[in-house]
Amino acid sequence: ADDRALLDRGDDALDTEVAAGPLPVVAVIGRPNVGKSTLVNRIIGRREAVVEDVPGVTRDRVAYEADWVGRRFTLVDTGGWAVDAKGIHLRVAEQAEIAVELADAVLFVVDATVGATDDDEAVVRLLRRAGKPVVLIANKVDDQRTEADAAALWSLGLGQPWPVSALHGRGSGDALDALLEVLPEVSAMGGAYERGGPRRVALVGRPNVGKSSLLNKLVGHERVVVDDVAGTTRDPVDELVEIGGRAWRFVDTAGIRRRVHQTRGSDFYASLRTQTALEKAEVAVVLVDASEVISEQDVRVIQQVIDAGRALVIAYNKWDLTDEERRHFLEREIERDLVQIPWAPRVNVSARTGRHTDKLVPALDTALASWEARIPTGRLNAFLGEVVAAHPHPVRGGKQPRILFATQAGTRPPRFVLFASGFIEAGYRRFVERRLREEFGFVGTPIEISVRVRE
Ligand code: GDP
Ligand code: GDP
Repeated sequence: ADDRALLDRGDDALDTEVAAGPLPVVAVIGRPNVGKSTLVNRIIGRREAVVEDVPGVTRDRVAYEADWVGRRFTLVDTGGWAVDAKGIHLRVAEQAEIAVELADAVLFVVDATVGATDDDEAVVRLLRRAGKPVVLIANKVDDQRTEADAAALWSLGLGQPWPVSALHGRGSGDALDALLEVLPEVSAMGGAYERGGPRRVALVGRPNVGKSSLLNKLVGHERVVVDDVAGTTRDPVDELVEIGGRAWRFVDTAGIRRRVHQTRGSDFYASLRTQTALEKAEVAVVLVDASEVISEQDVRVIQQVIDAGRALVIAYNKWDLTDEERRHFLEREIERDLVQIPWAPRVNVSARTGRHTDKLVPALDTALASWEARIPTGRLNAFLGEVVAAHPHPVRGGKQPRILFATQAGTRPPRFVLFASGFIEAGYRRFVERRLREEFGFVGTPIEISVRVRE
């Protein structure tokens, strides 16, 4: 990485980023019950230092800051996933795949007392494809007698199995030493789990809406910083861009710049690229071509952002190509197709002329502030009390379900839990969401509302 050139610019935000660099990321993966959480607790010494609760596509991943013999790294626990209707196999693969994608190295935990199962074999195939360094943990080797169980895991073809007892600590030091040998000093993953540092923005939208044009416009000339971390051979993943006097990290720009020209039918790959970018980002700018009719694909990308729980800004690009008639129809299309998300900040831009690109930063700031907003429990309940009193839930089967109490369980995005005396219908939930938005804003962020029924 060309650190010197960066420092010479004297830009504080960029200096800090490069001087420290994002910590390397280690993902702990494996089947349920093999002892991942136990191992994570062993490594972090039960300090419960949650760095970030990342809303994943499938399940939350939890990131901790850890260190071993003075080397710091981010440890990502994928321990908490549950069995669902699709069956455990699919879940394991999905969860592991995302965690591995965002990691610099992997601790793959296998229960040595059980031996390698089909699920373990599936994970091995995934690890081969990903090509990340792997340390194989043969867990639950509590004493010398069971060490032969560990040796049996050579059959997985991942090199040496490290016999470990996560429960008692036996062997974990040697395994961690082996991990440090394959772990880079600085993450090549663009700090997907870091707090602080430049905000991470995903620029998404269907092919040809102008993503690379806008990126070029924002980047200008001298201010481009290709973030080629630690001389890795991978594509430069992200770009640091200065807009409005601050550094922003545009994630996965390689995917934008490569300009694989998508033919029809390759929606699947476009959507996969969007998904990867969203995983790394805090906020997404969805570009829509204002000169063309809003398409199903535009709506789908916006829905992907909402489902991923990221903050959202919609930019209508190619404004220079619109005339009064087109703008009239655009408003109609927005009313028809995007009526459910009146809360997304909107900017009308032109990547070609640069029109209104300076309006992006305030829109991003607003969306991110909402995404991180926390409503005090007292205020929340006082407000909900009024709402419920004025508009009670309809009576069903002679009973009236009531909302007893609510709390904000999380942020990024805001997540609310309603405790209720009975089943709360979807329509009423949407009503509550609308009223929450009217009262508290939440401009630019999806919000999640779940209900727990108290018997
Ligand atoms: P996870 O689902 O992979 O996160 O697994 P957990 O960490 O929750 O562990 C599952 C069970 O295995 C728990 O009952 C642990 O106490 C137990 N366990 C974890 N590590 C060890 C170990 O090294 N030895 C033994 N005997 N049990 C362990
Ligand atoms: P991407 O596939 O989303 O990265 O889109 P590109 O940036 O490659 O843009 C697709 C085409 O639209 C190119 O021919 C651009 O020159 C053109 N384009 C992008 N933004 C604008 C704009 O604001 N105005 C006009 N007139 N053309 C644009």
